[in-house]
Amino acid sequence: MRDILPPESGRWRRFTSVFAEVVEAAGYQQVISPLLEDLGVFVRIGDATDVVTKEMYDFVDKGERHVALRPEMTASVCRAYAQHRPTPPWKVFYSGPNFRYEKPQRGRYRQFDQVGIEVLGVDDPHLDVEVIALAWEFYRRLGLRRVVLVVNSLGEPDDRARYVEALRRHFEAAGDGLGAQSRETLQKNPLRVLDSKRPADQDVIAGAPAIADFYSDEAAEHFATVRAGLDRLGIEYVVEPKLVRGLDYYRRTIFEIQGGTLDSAQNALGGGGRYDGLVEALGGPSTPGIGFALGVDRTLLACDDEGVFAAVAPPLDAFLVDITGGQEAAAITAELRAAGLRSDRAFDNRSMKAQMKLANRSGAAHAVIVGDAELASGTVLVKPLRTDGEQVGIARDDLIRHLLGSTSND
Ligand code: AMP
Repeated sequence: MRDILPPESGRWRRFTSVFAEVVEAAGYQQVISPLLEDLGVFVRIGDATDVVTKEMYDFVDKGERHVALRPEMTASVCRAYAQHRPTPPWKVFYSGPNFRYEKPQRGRYRQFDQVGIEVLGVDDPHLDVEVIALAWEFYRRLGLRRVVLVVNSLGEPDDRARYVEALRRHFEAAGDGLGAQSRETLQKNPLRVLDSKRPADQDVIAGAPAIADFYSDEAAEHFATVRAGLDRLGIEYVVEPKLVRGLDYYRRTIFEIQGGTLDSAQNALGGGGRYDGLVEALGGPSTPGIGFALGVDRTLLACDDEGVFAAVAPPLDAFLVDITGGQEAAAITAELRAAGLRSDRAFDNRSMKAQMKLANRSGAAHAVIVGDAELASGTVLVKPLRTDGEQVGIARDDLIRHLLGSTSND
């Protein structure tokens, strides 16, 4: 678990506000869910997944409830839908931290943030296109270019079930060709063996049957409509028949956005797909759902690697240097802030030299200096700090106008 310090923390906040702008423009509204849920909420997302069986931060609270820190947010959103029964379609977005007890490494942490959306109550493939397009648009807005959109369809539940049986036969026939860990996964969920990144498993995985051969007409048509919709929007994608997603509840459309620069086990920056059964499993009505979650930590690493969406400290417009005791700095910074000018000041009644040093270090555009003479004559000295311009003395009443003028000229 990491501290996110300034100026990096400012970048995190901008990240979520850009995300909110993109999805609010499409009619999504924010849902804020608790970090802690009844353990049962997450067990519903799949008891054959590492996320649930090995990585959960769960404990018994003082009221003897078995609870867990959320490992993802889809289950919480579906629980909220089942509980509050909003009118469908329910289009929501979220952002915040999740917790998984994983082995920490670059791009993989025990506390990590996600932003995401979910839509409950719509079964139309055109919605799949909207959801994928929003994720894609967000990555474009960040400035990322070396990312790849990968899509697949897991078919209808029946198609998927027949496919899973064919996979089971294929992997069982491979015997020791699969590593011990994958043989264990095979017992629980053959589909998830395809997710293995272990080099030793790759030959057997390459020879595995493809889901496309198991699609019903309905599933094939749904997927064709989604692809045609992406084509229509000019969104480039790769169809990856072996793409499966970590959690068990997906069907039909699934997708991932992969970065080119992280280790392959961490190259999924975000992903999502269509699911059903989850709202019902959580006590609600049978409800189709689709959504995605994008990892903030990993996406920002990809931004670093591409040199885009950099962390920048918000620049100050003015730094107050008050050598008359500090009251003037308090009054002037308050006036400037009220006028929308970012301003900071020195404290502790330091010397002129010490305060000027702080002003220079602050990165402010101007130092605004008040000494005894200025105080007596109702003036201030304004010294540009980022350009070679001359220091000028102006009436205190003109300060805001002066600074606003130089801000717009900068
Ligand atoms: P998932 O919920 O597993 O589909 O993950 C969606 C996205 O969340 C991934 O593509 C990652 O960007 C991010 N993510 C998942 N687990 C972690 C983790 N342990 N550390 C950092 N990011 C993660």
